Amino acid sequence: MAASEDTGVPGDGVPGDGAVGGGAPGDGAVGDGAHGGVAADEILVGERRGRVAAEKHSRRTRRGRAAMLVVATVTVVAVLTGVVAALAQPRDVVQMVEPTATTPVAAPTSTPPAPTETAGPTETVVATPTPTSTPTPTSTAGGTPSVAGDITAASSITVLVNKLTPLEPIEYEPADLVPVTTLGIPSMNGHSLRSEAASAVQTMFTAASAAGYALDMTSGYRSAESQTQLYEGYVADLGQEGADATSARPGYSEHQTGLAADISAPDAGCVLEACFGATEAGQWLSANAWQYGFILRYPDGVTHITGYEYEPWHFRYVGAEVATAMHEQGIVTYEEFLGKPEAPDYAG
Ligand SMILES: [Zn+2]
Repeated sequence: MAASEDTGVPGDGVPGDGAVGGGAPGDGAVGDGAHGGVAADEILVGERRGRVAAEKHSRRTRRGRAAMLVVATVTVVAVLTGVVAALAQPRDVVQMVEPTATTPVAAPTSTPPAPTETAGPTETVVATPTPTSTPTPTSTAGGTPSVAGDITAASSITVLVNKLTPLEPIEYEPADLVPVTTLGIPSMNGHSLRSEAASAVQTMFTAASAAGYALDMTSGYRSAESQTQLYEGYVADLGQEGADATSARPGYSEHQTGLAADISAPDAGCVLEACFGATEAGQWLSANAWQYGFILRYPDGVTHITGYEYEPWHFRYVGAEVATAMHEQGIVTYEEFLGKPEAPDYAG
């Protein structure tokens, strides 16, 4: 179950984070509409084909070519049969009409599996081996672009953390945390980040301010202890499944690295909400964060890879080299950049 990385975070003062997970109402209606549009187009094609066939039929009759008459008649009957069948059952019209189309179309029989809800083997975007059922945080970074360096050590700036890849050790605590307000970074709740990430936020906020956006760091480092208390409270109330849908497990939150910052623009509203991505400040961040070594860690539409719903406020410091490489290569998830398996859910 995809969850919001930042759901129910104590001290953030933002109730209702869970609503973020429901960001796709009306999907069914959109899908149905598209399907209907395709069906209508196919019917029109069928009708045009019918008219063309009828004209050919007429000419060929005048020429008295009996053989062609048979062929044309069969064509007309086939097309009309398709149209009638299509009208009778518009939802299946794509399958029923397509066999007569002149250009082959990929067989629409297999529906792509919805990969967000299972922990089983999943389709990988890049050519990497099928993920094993157990996380292997100690594995060597095979295929990892050298620019990323060490992605397994918890203290590495480029460490990969997702639902298949916890921090090692689970209770990892950074050694160089800095309260960001000491750098003049606005943070209503006084959060901390690792030194290098804090400096990068400072530079980025200064640039944002020059562009007209007053930003606030709404969340930063979270300890394993606070995450444990939060998660175990949810388990007691909701069971493990409910807790996993609501909160990251201890050791699995990027916030525990001290390299993740939740950023808001209080003037713009939409604090820790998906609509932040549509604000000018949110768009400025999305477009420019890479220049300061940050990536938008949970982009829209890639929940099956990241394991999290769209979080336009959650930025992860990975350093300028990696962030620039991802930007230049047009790669939007860290998993894909590293050639690592999709991590839609915990392994168990
Ligand atoms: Zn976050």
